[in-house]
Amino acid sequence: MPPNKLEVDTLVVGGGISGMQTALDLADQGYQVALVERKSSIGGKMIDLSKVFPTLDCCSCITTPKMSATAHHDKIKLMTYSEIQSINRNPGGFTAQVVKKPRYVREADCTGCRSCELACPLDISEDEHEFGRTAHRVIYVPFSTAVPQKAVLDIDHCLFCGKCLQACPADAIDFTQQAENIEIDARSIVLATGFETTPLDAKKEYGAGKFRNVISGMMMERLLAPTGPYGRVMRPSDGKMPGSIAYIQCAGSRDETLGVTYCSRVCCMYAIKQAMLLSGALPLAEITIYYMDIRAFGKGYEQFYQNAKAMGIEFIKGKVARIQEDGDQNPIVRVELVDELGQTRVMERQHDLIVLSVGLLPGYNPQALYNVPVAEDGFVNIPNFNVVPTGTSQEGIFVTGTAAGPMDIVDSIMMAGSAAAMAAAYLQSSNGHTSPTPENQPARSMQYA
Ligand SMILES: Cc1cc2nc3c(=O)[nH]c(=O)nc-3n(C[C@H](O)[C@H](O)[C@H](O)COP(=O)(O)OP(=O)(O)OC[C@H]3O[C@@H](n4cnc5c(N)ncnc54)[C@H](O)[C@@H]3O)c2cc1C
Ligand code: SF4
Ligand code: SF4
Repeated sequence: MPPNKLEVDTLVVGGGISGMQTALDLADQGYQVALVERKSSIGGKMIDLSKVFPTLDCCSCITTPKMSATAHHDKIKLMTYSEIQSINRNPGGFTAQVVKKPRYVREADCTGCRSCELACPLDISEDEHEFGRTAHRVIYVPFSTAVPQKAVLDIDHCLFCGKCLQACPADAIDFTQQAENIEIDARSIVLATGFETTPLDAKKEYGAGKFRNVISGMMMERLLAPTGPYGRVMRPSDGKMPGSIAYIQCAGSRDETLGVTYCSRVCCMYAIKQAMLLSGALPLAEITIYYMDIRAFGKGYEQFYQNAKAMGIEFIKGKVARIQEDGDQNPIVRVELVDELGQTRVMERQHDLIVLSVGLLPGYNPQALYNVPVAEDGFVNIPNFNVVPTGTSQEGIFVTGTAAGPMDIVDSIMMAGSAAAMAAAYLQSSNGHTSPTPENQPARSMQYA
């Protein structure tokens, strides 16, 4: 087969936790999988998180082994920094045209030693992981646990000074590298394209992204993460350690003015988790959560919520109507409090730092390319949800994780197992497929070790 042509059983689109798990579950059964991820590393949003509710496990510690197992599985062909351009049905399934974007670094040669990064004289703002709060060199390995550990060069900012070229011991840098076209024949497809969060500037009542000390839940994840930008929690305007931190729930969910009427399901829990982590990191800080309802629906989640209350985190039932700033850039919230009899009262309170518990939005619309319709909420439509919860309206195309709707990591992983099972059953029943035999079963990945 030509090097730019691939034949697989399943094409998985998206390398977050759900896509990786689907790929591993299929590959462990002996199916050939291609996993296409548009970013330079797999891991999705999970690799950016600090710790996970409700166990408070270190996120990096539990995601990195999955990333590694995915990359090293002999039945998975991993393609990062790649975009699918077109999908066409053929008699055996689908043909995808994929473009692998140039890294200007030969992946096969790069050892991830970072000598190029150290030699490069120019810093550019790091937007993908750190929201512009740190910088990286023009040529860089995306982050310390990136998979693959390969450098990528941002050609638009490059000075072409050649310092990286001289420093690279593997002779891996190639300024002339072109995009590569690859054709993939796949018998089935699993969409695992994930989510984005409500933009910080979505609500003008909350400062429309202009107040420096009003940040998003994802930004707080980075401040709390051991791999975060500063190694400690500080407020952006002046680097001060915040003495009073407030969370505003449903800042982008259950909000008709934004056209987002659904509950994002993870924001209550991630706010409680972050509040607990903050009480550890800043023991003297006062932490308040303004909420409409706390939705702690999963196994162990209600206990997690009760533990947070017992730790002294203040929960105030009320709707934050607006945020303003005083002369020192301290945010002031105006809250409509609701008592048990449904009576309302207005309160104003100043905090050092505010975290908006932003909601989950669909990350990708597969309608144009895959002819897979989305539902009213913008997430992939699952026409027969109660019976086939991973089936789209296109035969042979399945969906998993937050591409299907807001959900946490546990549910994303469970749905991945279900999508893999449905794809495997489809492969067994569709024409011409040779089911995996004991001889062609691979050694199992380390994912269950
Ligand atoms: C602030 C915050 C904190 C959270 N904390 C927790 C927690 O503590 N515990 C918990 O259980 N859950 C938590 N969550 C939820 C958790 O992040 C998600 O459940 C999980 O990341 C979903 O994984 P996924 O694979 O569905 O999506 P993603 O992680 O979004 O992965 C999707 C992947 O697909 C790629 N992609 C998208 N479109 C394309 C395309 N067209 N082609 C190729 N690739 C594509 C993306 O680049 C990405 O890598 C939190 C969420 C937020 C916002
Ligand atoms: S050539 Fe470009 S990437 Fe290489 S060191 Fe110079 S500025 Fe950095
Ligand atoms: S491009 Fe060269 S110097 Fe840079 S990480 Fe790769 S091997 Fe090291």
